[in-house]
Amino acid sequence: MSDSRLINFGAGPSALPASVLQEAAQGLLNFNGTGIGIAEISHRSKEFTACIAELEAQIRTQLDVPQTHSILFTQGGGTGQFSAVVLNLLARYRLLHPDVPTDEIALDYVVTGSWSKKAAEEARRLGGGRVNVAVDARPYSKDGKSFDNIPGPDAYSFSSDPALIYYCENETVDGVEFSHDPASPASFPFHLLPKNALVPLVADYSSSFMSRAIPRLADHAVIYAGAQKNIGPAGLTILIVRNDCLVDVDAAAKLGATPVPLTFSYKTIADSKSLYNTPSVLAIYISGLVLKRSRELGGVKYYEEVNRRKADKLYGVIKEGEAKGVFKAKVKEGSGSLMNIVFDVIGDGAEAKFISGAEERGMRSLKGHRSVGGIRISLYNAVTEEQTDVLIEYMKEFLA
Ligand code: PMP
Repeated sequence: MSDSRLINFGAGPSALPASVLQEAAQGLLNFNGTGIGIAEISHRSKEFTACIAELEAQIRTQLDVPQTHSILFTQGGGTGQFSAVVLNLLARYRLLHPDVPTDEIALDYVVTGSWSKKAAEEARRLGGGRVNVAVDARPYSKDGKSFDNIPGPDAYSFSSDPALIYYCENETVDGVEFSHDPASPASFPFHLLPKNALVPLVADYSSSFMSRAIPRLADHAVIYAGAQKNIGPAGLTILIVRNDCLVDVDAAAKLGATPVPLTFSYKTIADSKSLYNTPSVLAIYISGLVLKRSRELGGVKYYEEVNRRKADKLYGVIKEGEAKGVFKAKVKEGSGSLMNIVFDVIGDGAEAKFISGAEERGMRSLKGHRSVGGIRISLYNAVTEEQTDVLIEYMKEFLA
């Protein structure tokens, strides 16, 4: 069965390890010897609650999440969190500052790509505070209007006591990400944040979660990710929330904060151990299998090394192609994502030729996001180094 599978470079939903899918196929028929399939069993059964506890333990251990933070499971994807973080952190701010007028509450957004831009737009739409764009990366780009780099620290201006400070660690659409080398100008400027032990720092980690360690994880108030890239099927959203951000949203509403739908309230999710309502049972199960396997392979450290090798090779061949006038990187050097690598194929009809040649060789989903075009290669954990090498070989052939 797995021999007929193609190489999938999709940006999400994306590739999953064949061995896990085989195991999950068995679980769909008969989950852990219960005689009932995983998609049919009660989410309150002891077998399933063990499954959710196992997923939580895998994340806590592999990412080294401290006890100051809760790990929660919900639905609604990254897009749901664009709204939920605003509502929960405005509620927290209102409880801390009952008398501050709404139009004086700042929501700081670091806009480095299409997803963070969308998140800022949602905050503006919801109201309850004033969006301060702490930086917009576009004026720092080559053409002044695209997202092709992470600006240096001089570009940022944070508010003194914002209700939240939001950034997206890796922008899937634009292929831009923050550097993990703290000395790089393209790393997140932690040193510029307000000096407060409990800074409400929020990070969208949708497209790199579990692909490497999270720098300064404990300094974040909320980290979230959809499962559908490195971890499992779509339908599961993972949250790491610092415990001071699990607030009574109804008490905040009495003080004038926007009421929060209960399925969005972090405290409700935490108090019910992520079982306030029926969770995405199948996605939780498969994600647990994926993370168990990744731990056996060496966890995020293993993936960080493999993912870096994969990306280095791919950026290398893009550079070769640039020298020959065949490829053109979309992102400035130093800001390129390890997960989603974007480039153009130069010349009339060249992109279609590149894609059809790849498809003939068993590769799929190389087309860039509809809003930016070009080629986008997603190299999530389940895309192996060997599969990446097949693409590199093809690109070299294409150059020749
Ligand atoms: N943030 C990032 C960085 C993403 O890559 C995506 C999805 N591609 C989203 C948010 C939106 O997530 P969802 O589709 O799960 O709502």
